[in-house]
Amino acid sequence: MPHFIDVILPIPLEKSYTYKISGTEAKFLSVGMRVAVPFGKSKIYTGIVYKIHNVNPLNYEAKDIHQILDDMPLVTGDQLRFWEWMSGYYMCTMGEVMRSALPSAFILESETIVSKNLGANIDEGILNDDEFLVHEALHYRSSLKIEDIMGILGKKNVFSVIKSLLEKNVILVQEEIFDKYVPKLVRFVKLRPEYASHDSLRQLMETLSKAHKQRDVVMALFSISAKTKKPVKVSELLNESGATSSIIKTLVDKNILEEFYIQTDRVDYSVQGENDSKQLNEHQSKALEEIKTSFDIHNVVMMHGVTSSGKTEIFVKLILETVAKGQQVLYLLPEIALTTQLVRRLRAYFGDMMSVFHSRYSSHERVEVWYNVLNGKQKASVVLGARSSVFLPFQNLGLVIVDEEHETSYKQFDPAPRYHARDAAIVLAHSFKAKTLLGSATPSLESYYNVKQQKYGLVELHRRFNNVLMPDIELVDLKDKYKRKRMKGLFSDRMIEEMELALNDGRQIILFQNRRGFSPIVECRVCGHSPQCINCDVSLTYHQYRNQLRCHYCGYNTVMVQNCQACGSVDLDNKGFGTEQIEEQVKALFPAQKVGRMDLDTTRGKFGYEKIITAFEQQEIDILVGTQMLTKGLDFRNVKLVGIMNADHLLNFPDFRAHERSFQLMSQVSGRAGRTDVRGKVLIQTYNPHHQILQQVSTNSYAEMYADQMVERQNFKYPPVYRLIKLTLRHNDYGRVNMGAEWFARSLRQMFAANVLGPEFPPVPRIRNQYHINILVKLPPEISLVKTKEAIAKIHNSFMSIKDFRAIRVIINVDNY
Ligand code: ADP
Ligand code: ZN
Ligand code: ZN
Repeated sequence: MPHFIDVILPIPLEKSYTYKISGTEAKFLSVGMRVAVPFGKSKIYTGIVYKIHNVNPLNYEAKDIHQILDDMPLVTGDQLRFWEWMSGYYMCTMGEVMRSALPSAFILESETIVSKNLGANIDEGILNDDEFLVHEALHYRSSLKIEDIMGILGKKNVFSVIKSLLEKNVILVQEEIFDKYVPKLVRFVKLRPEYASHDSLRQLMETLSKAHKQRDVVMALFSISAKTKKPVKVSELLNESGATSSIIKTLVDKNILEEFYIQTDRVDYSVQGENDSKQLNEHQSKALEEIKTSFDIHNVVMMHGVTSSGKTEIFVKLILETVAKGQQVLYLLPEIALTTQLVRRLRAYFGDMMSVFHSRYSSHERVEVWYNVLNGKQKASVVLGARSSVFLPFQNLGLVIVDEEHETSYKQFDPAPRYHARDAAIVLAHSFKAKTLLGSATPSLESYYNVKQQKYGLVELHRRFNNVLMPDIELVDLKDKYKRKRMKGLFSDRMIEEMELALNDGRQIILFQNRRGFSPIVECRVCGHSPQCINCDVSLTYHQYRNQLRCHYCGYNTVMVQNCQACGSVDLDNKGFGTEQIEEQVKALFPAQKVGRMDLDTTRGKFGYEKIITAFEQQEIDILVGTQMLTKGLDFRNVKLVGIMNADHLLNFPDFRAHERSFQLMSQVSGRAGRTDVRGKVLIQTYNPHHQILQQVSTNSYAEMYADQMVERQNFKYPPVYRLIKLTLRHNDYGRVNMGAEWFARSLRQMFAANVLGPEFPPVPRIRNQYHINILVKLPPEISLVKTKEAIAKIHNSFMSIKDFRAIRVIINVDNY
C-alpha cells in the first residue's frame, strides 16, 4: 500500500499538499512533525505533517519528501485544531497561520540564511562531522545560504543538520539578536535621618567647620533640596558644590550622607524574601470568590475594576491556585515592550515558574519557551506573552488571563491571520475546558456586550487599593479661555496653575496629546464643532487635494465648508497639533524643568520605551509629554497631575469607535495620576465641556457610557451588534483596482444588499505605489457568520477567475478594528 502525507506549507496556498513517503517513514512519522519537502522547481520548505493516509492525489504526481526533521511532534493535535479554527474564522490559509504560529527558527526554507552565534561558547566536541563542516565554514564567511550548505556537505538534505546546529546553539538563522534591557540606576544622596533634628544638625555643622569641602557639600545639598523639593542626584550635588566624588564618599563612609536609588516599582519587588504574593484586602478577596463562583457557570469572566484597584494581585492568586493544580497558565498582555514593569513584578512572584514569550526575544529563547510549554516543564507553568503566545503548544492549559482586554493592539493587522488575540485566547481556553479571565478598567463594548448577554460573567471592583481616591477630574473650557485671553499657546491658565502646584510639590506631570496624524479633521475654533457624516456617526476628514470633506467609511462627501455649521464662525482649524509642539511650549513655560516626550518618533530606537519609562520612574524627567502609549498600565508613583491637552481631537476622530476609545484613553491616562498618597488631579482641555463622553469620564460612569454608545452602535449598525468584515483591494493601477472593487461590491450587494458599504478609498489611498480601496460588509446579528464567509469566499474565487482582476490582492479582515 502506498503511503502519503498532507503537509501544511508556510505559504498562502488554499490547500495542503500531498507527498509520498516510504513504509518505514510512515511507521516513524506522526501528525505534527516537521518534514523538509521540495516545492515547485527548486524550492525547499519546512512543512507540518497534517494527515497521514493512503490516497493518491488526483491532479498531480506526489513528490517524495526530502527528510523528516523531528522525532516527536512539534505541533500538537490541539494546536492543529486551533489553526483550523483560526483559518476558518479569519478567512486565511493554514499556511499563513503556520507562519505566524511558529518561531522563525522552526521554519527552515530555501531562503534561510545561517550565521554564527557569536554569543555562544561552542564545544566543538559535541558536533558531528557535518555539523563541524558548517561550523568551520562560518569561520570564513559571515553567513551561508542553504545552497552553500548543500555544496559544503555535498548533499540536498541539510535541514536536519541546520536544525541540530540551532539546537546546539551554534548558529542563528537570519534574525536580529535582541539584547535585554538593563536600566542604568541613578544615584541619589540624602542626609542620614539622625540629622533630621535642629540640634543634631547644628552639631554636625560644627564638627565639619574644619572640613570646609565636606561642609560645602552638605550646604549645597540643603540648597538644592530647598529649591527643587526633589531627591538630589549625586551628579547634581557634584555640580552645585564643585566637590569631588571622593568627598561625597567620605561623607557616606562617615555615615553623614546616605546613598539610594529610585526604582519605584522595581525596588518593591526585588527585595529578597519579599516575594510572597500580597494578602488580599476584603474587596479583593470578595472579588476573587466571585470570580470562582462565576467560573462555575461561565467560561469567561470579565473583571471590571477601576485603575489601581488591585486587579493584578487577584490575577496572581488565581494563577497560583491554577499552577498548584498542575495546570498551565497563559497571561496575555497587549505589548510587552510597554509592560516591563509588570513583567518584573510577576517575575518576583512566579520566579522560575514563569516564562516570557515575545517576538522581540531571540529566536533561541522563543524556541526554548516553545519546548518547555510542549513538554510541560515547570519553567513554563506561567507564560506571560503578547498576542502570538496563543500559538504555544499548551498541554494542560487551566487558565487564561487577558489583561487590559480593551487594548486594540490585541488585533493583528498584518499579515494574515488577522486575529484578535483576546477572542482567539477564549477559543483556545475553551478547547482545554479552561477558564478565561478578562481584566480592564474600561472594558471594550464587545466584551461588555457579552456580559450583558449573559455570555460572560462579571465581577467588579469600584475602589482603588488602600482607598486611594480616584483622581479629581476638572474640565477646562477652551472656548471660554480663548475668549477671555487666558491661554498661553496651547495651555490654559488652569493648566499652568496646576502644573506649578505639582512641580512645587516635587511631583511629576504627564501631558497627553493624541495625534494620529494623517487624516485631519476640521474643527471650529469657537465652538469645537466638527462636521459629521450623515450616514455614519463619524467625523468627516479633510482632503486638501479635492477640497472635500469625506467619510472614509461610506464615501459620503461634500465640499469643504467655509463656516461652522453649528455656530457660523469662519474660524475653522484643520491642522491639529502634536506632541512636538506641546513639548516646545512646555520648555518655554517651564525652562527649569526636564521635559521628555514619548511618542512613535522618540521610541523608535532600541529600548526607546524602556529608556523613557525608566527615566521618568527615576525622576530624571519632570514633565512627560506623550501619546496613547502613556496609557498602557504604567504605574508611576510620583505623578500628581495628568493634563489632556485637547479632548476634542480624540472625540472627533473619524472612526465609529472614537467615543468609546476616547473614554478608555482618558480614563486610563487619568488613572496614572495619584496612585499612592496624594489625590491625583486631571485637567481636560476641551471646547465641549458638556460632551457626554467627557461628563462620563469625569464622573467615572462606565455604565452610562456603555448604554449611550450601544444605542449609537445599534442605530448605525456597528459592532458589537453587527459584525464587520472589511475587504481591501490592492493594486498599483488605480483604474484596475477601482474597477475590481466595483465588481466585488456589486457581487456582494447581490447577497448582502444595503449592508455593503463602499468601495471607498481610504484617506491615504496610495501607499508605496499601491492603491488601496475598501469595502465594508456589516452583518446583522441574525445572519450566519459561517454562511457569509462561504459566500464571500465564493465571490472571491469568481473574482480571481477574471483575467483583469487576478493580479489584484484582496485582503480580508474579519472583525475589523
Ligand atoms: P490594577 O491592576 O487594578 O491597576 P494593581 O494590582 O496594580 O492595580 O494595584 C495597585 C497598587 O496597589 C499596586 O502598587 C499594588 O502593589 C498595590 N496593591 C494591590 N493590592 C494589594 C494588596 N493586597 N496588598 C498590598 N498592596 C497591594
Ligand atoms: Zn462653531
Ligand atoms: Zn459615512
